[in-house]
This record gives sequence, structure tokens and C-alpha cells, in this order.
Amino acid sequence: MRVLITGGAGFIGSHLAEALLSQGHQVTVIDDLSTGRFKNIEGIVRRWPASGDQPTFRFAIDSITNEVVLDRLASECDVIFHLAAAVGVKLIVENPVRTIETNVMGTEAVLKAALRYRAKVLIASSSEVYGKGNSIPFREDDDVVLGPTSRSRWSYAASKMVDEFLALAYYREKGLPVVIVRLFNTVGPRQTGQYGMVVPRFVQQALRGEKLKVYGDGGQSRCFLHVRDAVKALISLAECPGAVGEVFNVGSTDEITILDMARKVLNVTGGDPGRIEYVSYDQAYAAGFEDMRQRVPDISKIRTYTGWEPGLSLEEILRDVIESCMD
Ligand code: UDP
Repeated sequence: MRVLITGGAGFIGSHLAEALLSQGHQVTVIDDLSTGRFKNIEGIVRRWPASGDQPTFRFAIDSITNEVVLDRLASECDVIFHLAAAVGVKLIVENPVRTIETNVMGTEAVLKAALRYRAKVLIASSSEVYGKGNSIPFREDDDVVLGPTSRSRWSYAASKMVDEFLALAYYREKGLPVVIVRLFNTVGPRQTGQYGMVVPRFVQQALRGEKLKVYGDGGQSRCFLHVRDAVKALISLAECPGAVGEVFNVGSTDEITILDMARKVLNVTGGDPGRIEYVSYDQAYAAGFEDMRQRVPDISKIRTYTGWEPGLSLEEILRDVIESCMD
């Protein structure tokens, strides 16, 4: 396949690029390096240097809203993995305009370009679209329950819902092959804690000998998926003809509370188990911030379509994150 990855210098995108290149595909990455980092793809550039007329790996530092560049790249690919987006709860709460504009306008630009050349598009959506629904585990056809528009956290969920609606509309109305992937908490090497993600933050705090900052009472739970498993799921869906026009959950079903995660990180890094500090949500994010108490995916749909299921445990995830933080 000739593959285009938007946001390919980001955390998930760079792992996806590596996996696809290893399987012999041609990969082009477009990334404006807003939250992505060149460092994430440095290893790829070394391993697959650009040479000849048909380089195996190419990299464009640009925004997906640059129509001319995106058009050219879309004309040269069979599949687009659209991962470029504003992510991270901290970033979303602090920059709501950027979140909404990047997510909605970016996806619109990608779908328009894909349609001109009939490229298949995998849209990375998010478990955030389930909002504060409480019918655990979340199934793809569940109702969504969001908070009010006065709370900026929900703008992320709403922007991802618009992306999903738009992609499905392109499929139904114009016949564009699209697949929607709702990624649940994905972690692994190269994820930065800068935009709020809990696992790299805890690991960095533990390695620096600081207190681990648990927000709220720590009783909220999540399921953490290794990025290598997430990448396998994305590729399996791109290769599955029956997945076109469908929405899929991709996540782990191994649930853990945030407090237990903090204890686990302290345990694995040899830190003092008492080194935990509770921080109120108001202090951590903004006044009136609403968190999800529990988030577990039902992954029977992707299992039925592609046979995919998570393979790596929480212990393996932590080991890899700790190792990468010590590099
Ligand atoms: N969290 C925390 N300490 C941190 C960062 C996050 O206790 O330094 C909590 C956060 O409030 C949420 C959970 O960890 O309940 C997961 O947060 P993250 O931003 O990683 O992902 P989310 O599931 O919120 O998208």
C-alpha cells in the first residue's frame, strides 16, 4: 500500500509509520509538528532514508489545511490514516479554539482530498465521544451523553463526533471508503505527559522522586492499551474490506483505577508507596471540570471483523514507558 499518515510525527502516528514500513508499505507523513516531534521519526529517517524517485518514507512538515500539499499527497496514496488532531485533556481545556478548529477543519480537508482520488480513510476518533455515559462497557452503537457547552472539555467529544458524522456522510452520500476508530486510552514510548496524559506523567514524577499527582479521589478508572496493539488494530481495520462505513472501539478491557495505577508505578519504579498527592479537579484543570468515572470498551465488534485483540499487559506497558523515559 501507499500510505499517508496525517499526524505521523505524533505518538501513535510514528509507531504506525514504523509498523507499516516494516511490513514493506510506502509511507508518507504529514505533520505540522505542533504536538508531534521530529524526534519521534528520527529513527525512521535513519532506517529508511529518502533516496531515488520512489522513496519508501517521505516526510512533509506542513498543516493538513494546506490544500495544495494535501491534494498532492492524497493523489499519491491508496490509504490515509488521519491521526492529526488536538489531543490531551490539558491541551483541550486550555486551547478550546485550537481544538475545535484543528479537529473539524482538518478532517474536512482530509475527506475532501481523499474523495478526489478515492483513497480509503481511517479516521482516528476517541472514546471521549461516549462522554459521561454509564452503560459500561461502551458499545459502538450506544447513545452518547455529553456535558453542557459551557464546559470546554466536551468540545473535544463534540468535535470528534462531527468528524465521525462527516466521515460517515462522505461514505453514505459519496461512496468514499471510510473506517472510524474510537481509540481508548493508548499509552507507550514517545507519549508525552505535557498535554495531560496520566501514565507518562506518573512515570516521570516517580523517576524524579516527586509525588504522583492523583486528580480527584483516584477512584476513576481507565483501561490502558499499548500503542503497539493500537497500531495492529489500525492496520487490521485498513486491510478489512467489511470494515468500510463502520465504527470500531479499539482499547484494552483491563480496567484499573488511577490510584491503583499510581501505586503500580511507584511499585515498579521502587518508589515509596506513600508518595501520592491528591489534587482537586478544579486545581488540576479548571473550575467545574467534569471527569469520566469509568471507561471500558466493548471490543467484540473489532474481534469479529478482524480477529484483533490486545496482546500486551499493563506490566509490559509500564516497563516500556519507564524504559523510554530513562533514555
Ligand atoms: N490524571 C491524574 N493525574 C494526572 C493526569 C491525569 O490523576 O497527572 C487522571 C485524569 O483526571 C483522568 C485519568 O487520570 O481521570 C486519565 O487521564 P488522561 O488525561 O490520561 O486521559 P483521559 O481518560 O482523561 O482522556
